[in-house]
Amino acid sequence: MSTSPEGTVRPSTPLASGGPKLSVVVPVYNEEENLADLGKEIREALVSIDYEVILVDDGSTDRSFAEIETLGRLDPRFKAVRLGTNFGQTAAMAAGIDHAAGQVLAFLDSDLQNDPRDIPGMLVKLDEGEGWDVVSGWRKRRQDKWFTRRLPSQIANAIISRTTGVTLHDYGCTLKIYRADFIKNLRLYGEMHRFIPALAGFLGARIVEVPVNHRPRTRGVSKYGLIRIFKVVLDLHTVKFMHQYLTKPNYLFGGGGALMLAAGAFLGGVTLYKKYWLGVFVKDQPLFQISIFFSLIGLQLLLLGLLAEILIRIYYELRGKRNYFVRRTVNFK
Ligand code: UDP
Ligand code: MG
Repeated sequence: MSTSPEGTVRPSTPLASGGPKLSVVVPVYNEEENLADLGKEIREALVSIDYEVILVDDGSTDRSFAEIETLGRLDPRFKAVRLGTNFGQTAAMAAGIDHAAGQVLAFLDSDLQNDPRDIPGMLVKLDEGEGWDVVSGWRKRRQDKWFTRRLPSQIANAIISRTTGVTLHDYGCTLKIYRADFIKNLRLYGEMHRFIPALAGFLGARIVEVPVNHRPRTRGVSKYGLIRIFKVVLDLHTVKFMHQYLTKPNYLFGGGGALMLAAGAFLGGVTLYKKYWLGVFVKDQPLFQISIFFSLIGLQLLLLGLLAEILIRIYYELRGKRNYFVRRTVNFK
């Protein structure tokens, strides 16, 4: 952490002292035709920057790894992480994050759809004014088909923005830049790389969007079909739950359980009232069964809430995790 002359504290980037300023993390799955040009583009775009490139080979079955090796021999700033098999883009990005030593991380697709020449400007943006924690690429003029790609993506962006409260035009654009401390703590599962900005936002990251260049894919094939929409919706549920209830699951389960128990007790009361005051036999009252049903479910939910509380404590304590995120500590002398 450093303090500028005016006394305002700059965002800290305490990780990996001695490492490069920037780590470019690139997931690669069967992109043999694109890698040589990608390497060239990155080297040309980042000439005046202290950087490394982490190419994560996500179990490619073509010559991608050989191409990565060629890049690494040519320029030792290009490093490879080779996964055992195809774990998916999210896992590949997570592996890249784990191996990155930079104070700032940038993500880039390996199919040349993103343009590395956007990175220097985004780095400038990161330090603009008080400083940002995330600079998020926005493919304002996206070069993909409208009906199968851009329209679903627009709908997804609107839903994700609304649900998470972190409003972005373009969650799907891989080209984004993060301060390392905001991203090193995240755990990414499923197809969750799309939600990284929201997850960082939950930690208090200051996020800004900048329009970036986007190009059509000219070589290789897209790795995704329409099925990804369903995965995104399911992941969104998980993200929402994790954010709202991860540290206090009993508010959800216990709350629901208490409501159901109360409803059960009320309906039980109605049954008894009808029996003793109106003379209706319990066997003639279907409400009685509903009351039992509600009470049982309510009890189950209450117990589930307690179990979830125990689990969540184990989750945090085992991994030495905290239920808060410290941007920086300041010692005022
Ligand atoms: N990718 C990956 N593992 C996968 C699928 C994709 O590492 O299982 C990489 C892929 O090589 C590319 C990036 O993720 O660099 C984005 O994939 P793609 O271009 O197919 O997605 P689209 O641009 O069509 O959304
Ligand atoms: Mg692509």
